[in-house]
Amino acid sequence: MKKIIASNFKTNHTRKSTREFIEDINQYLSEKNIDNDVYIFPTATSLDSFETASNLTIGVQNAYYTKSGSFTGEIGTIHLDEFGIKTILIGHSERRHILGETQKEVALKYNYFKALGYKIIYCFGEPLEVKQAGLTETLGYIWEQFDGIDLNYENLILAYEPVWAIGTGISATTEDIGTIHRKIKKKIDKPLLYGGSVKVCGLQDILEVPNVDGVLVGTASWVAEDFKKMIYIANKMDQNSKKIICSTEE
Ligand code: PEP
Repeated sequence: MKKIIASNFKTNHTRKSTREFIEDINQYLSEKNIDNDVYIFPTATSLDSFETASNLTIGVQNAYYTKSGSFTGEIGTIHLDEFGIKTILIGHSERRHILGETQKEVALKYNYFKALGYKIIYCFGEPLEVKQAGLTETLGYIWEQFDGIDLNYENLILAYEPVWAIGTGISATTEDIGTIHRKIKKKIDKPLLYGGSVKVCGLQDILEVPNVDGVLVGTASWVAEDFKKMIYIANKMDQNSKKIICSTEE
């Protein structure tokens, strides 16, 4: 399976710079003949009708489980339908831990968008104190994040994102990633991404870990040149390149 590369803009990029970024990446994919699946999740205000290659998908970072209604500050599916958006991130740790989304709400959202056939990138991962408590505790915590989640859903991609690694600059070690991914894959046969301070240099090491099907990247993906390097590396690896590469230089 070709490696999946996804960029989460979080609260970054304007409408104008989002369009420039997407057009740049789209052109890069066709110029280089790259057929890896690439996802970009811009802010809700930057959603628009984008003409993209079939392997470049624009998704939404969040939406409420409604078509429309009175949910101040939220958007519903009429706003996504306007731009043909059919892909959503659910369960991101910033929504769970900063914005207070409970597992019950996450599951409600999951089931709503599942019923509509959305592609769901479902994020889960443990905070530092849980990791420090040990592997059993970590796995127990992770399984609880699957409460109410249909793991057989055909349009599901999973993303293991340890909370302590997100936006901190400290990525999990390849050993940690390998351990958790192996345990998850044993039980759930779905594409499984890693996310948490992935950088251009270091990407190949992570993608080489067994059971890592791709990456979900925040901070290091916001400069188009860097995101292109990541796509380039993933594509080269799929062609069995053995060399560790951190740039688009041949
Ligand atoms: C993310 O937002 O999903 C993420 C992994 O962020 P960062 O790469 O900045 O840690």
